[in-house]
Amino acid sequence: MSIDGEVKTKVCTKCEVEKELIDGFFKDKYSKDGHSHRCKICKSAAGN
Ligand SMILES: [Zn+2]
Repeated sequence: MSIDGEVKTKVCTKCEVEKELIDGFFKDKYSKDGHSHRCKICKSAAGN
């Protein structure tokens, strides 16, 4: 069983797949929630 239970997720604006913030998204200090709008995979695909 999970102790703190709450896993923050976010839907990528590119591929529209819901992923865990800590696992699926790069941090982005300019974003409201502190993570990029696009997931790591989409960011990588963009060649950035
Ligand atoms: Zn994506």
